Amino acid sequence: MASGKIIIAIDGYSSTGKSSFAKLVAKGLGYIYADSGALYRAVTYFAYTNGFIDDAGNIDKENLAKVLPRIEITFRTNKKGDSVTCLNGSNVEKYIRTSTVSAHVSPIAEIPFVRDFVNVMLRRMGQDKGLVMDGRDIGTAVFPNAELKIFMTASAKVRAERRLKELLAKGEKATLQSVLENLNQRDYIDSHRQKDPLTKAKDAIELDNSCMTFEEEIEWLNNILVPNFNLKVEYSKEA
Ligand code: C5P
Repeated sequence: MASGKIIIAIDGYSSTGKSSFAKLVAKGLGYIYADSGALYRAVTYFAYTNGFIDDAGNIDKENLAKVLPRIEITFRTNKKGDSVTCLNGSNVEKYIRTSTVSAHVSPIAEIPFVRDFVNVMLRRMGQDKGLVMDGRDIGTAVFPNAELKIFMTASAKVRAERRLKELLAKGEKATLQSVLENLNQRDYIDSHRQKDPLTKAKDAIELDNSCMTFEEEIEWLNNILVPNFNLKVEYSKEA
C-alpha cells in the first residue's frame, strides 16, 4: 500500500461536475485544489479584453505570443475561503466564468504555446504533491505519473442542466439549447485538438456521476483511496 501525499488528476468533458467534486476531495484530504480551466479562461479573458480576439472569433496569435509571457495568473483565497483567479494581481473570477469567455476558451486552449504557458504553472503546483487538479489533460499530459486518475462523465442532459443553473444563478441570460451548443462545441474542439486532446488516460478510473449525490461520489472514492493509498476523504454535508 502506498503512503504519503499523492496527486489526484480529475479529467472529463465540460460540466461533468469535476470542479465541485475536486474541491470536496481537496478539502476532505487537506490538499490543494487547482482548477486548470481557470488558467485557460484567464488567458482567454486577457486576449478578449486586449483585442487579440476579433468579433468573428479570429485570434491574433502572433501578437498574443509576444505578450503572454508577461502576464501573471495566480490564485488567491478570499474571505469565504474560496480560491479566486487573479490576472496581473486583479481578481477576475467573475469575468472568466461568463458565456463570452466560454465561447472563446476552447480555440484559445488549442493553441500549443498557450498550453505550454499554462502547463508550466500547473506543474509548479504539483511539486510538493498533496494536490487535486481538474481539467482535460491532467492525467494524460500535465501529470502523466499522477498516483490516481479519475475520468468523470455524466449524461448530456444532466451536464447542460447543471451549467444552465449556474449561469442563471449568476444572472446571465442562457437557455438549455444555448448551453448544450456551447458544451458540445467545446467538447468537440477539446477532444480533436492536436496538442494534448481530451481523452481518458489508459489508467484512469471512470466515474459516471449522473445520478449520484456528493456523498455517494465521496464514498466511491474512499473505496479506492483507503485500500490503495491509506487516505480517506472526510465529508460532511454541512461543510
Ligand atoms: O474546466 P473549464 O470548463 O472551466 O475549462 C474551460 C476550457 O479550458 C475547456 O473547455 C478547455 O477548452 C480548456 N481546458 C483545457 N485543458 C485543461 C483545462 C481546461 O484545454 N486542462
